[in-house]
Amino acid sequence: MKKLLSLALCILTLLSCAVPAQAESKVYVRRSGDYYAEPYYHKNAACSFGLIMSSDTQRLVKCSVAAAEKNYVRPCPVCAYSFKPMFTGTFPKWTYSTPPYYAFGEKHYLPVATRAKYGNTNEKIEQWRKTRNPSAYYAGVYLNDSGTHTVLMTKPTAAKAAGWKRMLGTDFWVIEAKYSEKQLNNLNAYAIKLMGKYGINAVGIDTTANRVSIGTNDNSVANMKKIYNVLKSKGYPQDAVWIYKSEPGSSDF
Ligand SMILES: [Zn+2]
Repeated sequence: MKKLLSLALCILTLLSCAVPAQAESKVYVRRSGDYYAEPYYHKNAACSFGLIMSSDTQRLVKCSVAAAEKNYVRPCPVCAYSFKPMFTGTFPKWTYSTPPYYAFGEKHYLPVATRAKYGNTNEKIEQWRKTRNPSAYYAGVYLNDSGTHTVLMTKPTAAKAAGWKRMLGTDFWVIEAKYSEKQLNNLNAYAIKLMGKYGINAVGIDTTANRVSIGTNDNSVANMKKIYNVLKSKGYPQDAVWIYKSEPGSSDF
């Protein structure tokens, strides 16, 4: 008995040593020189959801959540939020390395007949919006790599997803968003008024990044700070904005 007790104590001591008192989880971000090259941080180093393509060399860097958030980088809806991407129905067996809710958009892997089965979520949402305003949690829709649609929602739940499925009469992926389309539309309208100031030459909503993207020909830290500050003074959250280097005439978004 004594032996068992001491063994148990031994195991307990080992366990308590194995878990540091203030364990800080590390996450992954891509950086390009001094800049964060994407809007999300990842728990999975192989995940690149939301990556904004850039010609610059990007390095995958491990950092703390606090460091990422200080630079307005948010948790990735695919690998870092607690709500995992879900499909509202039964999705076919997926045999490709790219997850079916990704949005590189060049190729749609599901056969046309299978894709057709999942209808046209996008058009149905557009039709619905002609008669109603977007709800407070709708955050956009995009056509993903599978050829089905992904709907972004703030505070998503299986029940909300089921409600949308009934309304649209089709199945789709759901991922979590921080800002609703309504919030991004307001911010986008204000950002358009800043065109021509601070070197800003492009403004638009980036659905997968769940942000308003602002292109400027001057992406120096000082100028970016000026842009963030003017938006902040109007009450717009800084992590709802993505500022990137954009040459005049560029139309990335
Ligand atoms: Zn991710």
